[in-house]
Amino acid sequence: MRTLVFATNNLNKVIELRSILKGKYKILSLSEAEIDIDIPEPHATLEKNAIEKSNVIYQLTKKSCFSEDSGLEVKALNGEPGVKSARYAGEQKSDDDNIDTLLLHLKNKEDRSAAFKTVISLTIKGNHFIFEGVCNGSIVEKRRGKNGFGYDPVFMPEGSTNTFGEMTLDEKNKYSHRKKAVEKLIEFLEKADDSALGL
Ligand code: IMP
Repeated sequence: MRTLVFATNNLNKVIELRSILKGKYKILSLSEAEIDIDIPEPHATLEKNAIEKSNVIYQLTKKSCFSEDSGLEVKALNGEPGVKSARYAGEQKSDDDNIDTLLLHLKNKEDRSAAFKTVISLTIKGNHFIFEGVCNGSIVEKRRGKNGFGYDPVFMPEGSTNTFGEMTLDEKNKYSHRKKAVEKLIEFLEKADDSALGL
């Protein structure tokens, strides 16, 4: 089975990736690959941050790897929190504080439409390949459900009356930005042989 390092320390993302890949590929998180590093996300776009992460790990290991950067873009907040999604309420990176800040900023706003975006960067032999996924939806008034992570309890995807927080992983994957980006990644990987992928 093909093995790829996923340049992340976020266990929730690893769990989602594994549930999407359903055993087709072996995915190693950074800690499983015994890489102890906190990769910076210094850029103003998801794409640049994703490339930064996969490139840092590629330069360290010289092995093909991929990363992803995701964010929530809220229309009435001019696209915020966007790249700052993880740190919206501060460097403590608390999901709960981030949701409180989001709900506060959206108080009295009529338009609660929002979109989750994921950008995956796959680095092979020093070249970066980009795959994107978007999930449109809206921000509900109060937290609903305890599943998932991040903003899941307040994000309701278009076509559903449940928030991601109220969904199982399989249900979330019917709508998810991450699933859409990963599907494009898989399509790319399936078309290439091991030597082209540097595996
Ligand atoms: P990063 O991609 O590690 O920079 O993190 C992006 C942040 O966006 C996370 O910390 C979460 O707060 C949020 N986020 C990304 N994807 C999801 C998701 O699928 N559900 C809920 N929140 C998410």
